[in-house]
Amino acid sequence: MTIDSLAIAAYLVAALLFIVSLAGLSKHETGKQGIWYGIVGMAIALVATIALALDGGSHGMTALGIVLMVVALILGATVGLWRAKVVEMTGMPELIALLHSFVGLAAVLVAWSGYLMVEAKGAAQTEVAPELLGIHHAEVLIGLFIGGVTFTGSIVAYLKLSAKIDSKPMMLPGKNALNIGALVLFVAMTVWFVIDPALWLLIAATVLALLLGWHLVASIGGGDMPVVVSMLNSYSGWAAAAAGFLLNNNLLIITGALVGSSGAYLSYIMCQAMNRSFISVIAGGFGMEQPSSSSDAEQGEHREVSAEEVADMLANASSVVITPGYGMAVAQAQYPVAEITRILRERGVNVRFGIHPVAGRLPGHMNVLLAEAKVPYDIVLEMDEINDDLSDTDVVLVIGANDTVNPAAEEDPGSPIAGMPVLRVWEAGNVIVFKRSMAVGYAGVQNPLFFRDNTSMLFGDAKERVEDILRAL
Ligand code: NDP
Repeated sequence: MTIDSLAIAAYLVAALLFIVSLAGLSKHETGKQGIWYGIVGMAIALVATIALALDGGSHGMTALGIVLMVVALILGATVGLWRAKVVEMTGMPELIALLHSFVGLAAVLVAWSGYLMVEAKGAAQTEVAPELLGIHHAEVLIGLFIGGVTFTGSIVAYLKLSAKIDSKPMMLPGKNALNIGALVLFVAMTVWFVIDPALWLLIAATVLALLLGWHLVASIGGGDMPVVVSMLNSYSGWAAAAAGFLLNNNLLIITGALVGSSGAYLSYIMCQAMNRSFISVIAGGFGMEQPSSSSDAEQGEHREVSAEEVADMLANASSVVITPGYGMAVAQAQYPVAEITRILRERGVNVRFGIHPVAGRLPGHMNVLLAEAKVPYDIVLEMDEINDDLSDTDVVLVIGANDTVNPAAEEDPGSPIAGMPVLRVWEAGNVIVFKRSMAVGYAGVQNPLFFRDNTSMLFGDAKERVEDILRAL
């Protein structure tokens, strides 16, 4: 058997492992197993690729190429392992966004090399059959375009998620016309490039793709970033698939298509959960109006409460709902929160958790933290399961959540988060909000909840305040 056919078999096994991995990742219980299938699949794919390169056949590389590949592999693996070890759970979305940008950049470079290879060697010397040269050039431009949009889009997502730039939507005049114009221009350029593959067209398409990626993601507001992250995940998959076509690599095509389609489906589910139009979000906020409400509008006075008073309230309550958010993750307050839950449940209080689909900075972020602190699964409910019970709840503890409990989403049509379903905590008897200041949440919108008559603010680091309550209990 030749190395070529062995590699094809190995790629097939790796592709199957990636499919099993995705299936495993779709459930909490099988998540870790899923990761292992993915790791083994990737190891097999890497070994097969290296074997192909060393074999010196049609995929063979020069000695310098092999040295460069090994150095890149060691460098990449070292940096990847180090980042994965040091990253905080709250920093995962920006790390993921950055990784997507690398996939986009790789697709752009593959497209450029696909073009230069044919130009330098001439079609006769490459694997591209002369009658397929037009298709090859279309592949180059399409791969380059998807990669370019993914690259700059992911960089903007990284900058927004890590708060290095404002998370508010950038609203250029005529932004929808700009996006559509860029798409039409790209299609025209592709046709032109197939007819006449000139270098200047490749440069122009690269600049166009980079600008469009930047504009698409910059136009989307902070509250919609969860959808953007999964959308870029999907784009990075399609970018990898496009690179697979250019490199004639079936595994890259299959893997790219798996990532692309699963990312697109996740974006669709998240859009449904957030009551957003899928088309509008993937088209850079197409049709969304400029928010008319200001986050600085005068809201009135807020009331403060002490940890001891909250402990008293909890001791006298018969039903308590805890709605955690990003601040619980920052403070790592899940352990004392789990302890309070245990104590109250032992005293006969009905304690449950209400989890918003985009609470925190990752899909399922809060569920992971609560599972880590051994909060029983059966008292952790989805937003839709708990919302109708909130009006019969004595005390709601809002621990480091803000946008996900903001009544403006339902009551203020001009708000940037208008229409997003939220946890209706204000319907409960008493609401205690744990946060450090009156600062806004991720979407940059002030929260009228903090000024309601039945709301009291417990300021300070969420973990310290929950521990104070534990002591008082
Ligand atoms: P928010 O980001 O709206 O608010 C978090 C609050 O936590 C802040 O108001 C902050 O107030 C408080 N906080 C921060 N640190 C601490 C601390 N140490 N102790 C106590 N409080 C703290 O959180 P939500 O979870 O309600 O909403 C998530 C937001 O993130 C949504 O807008 C969502 O769209 C977006 N998002 C979600 C993603 C996902 O996949 N889940 C991905 C990307 C974005 P203060 O500074 O005053 O303490």
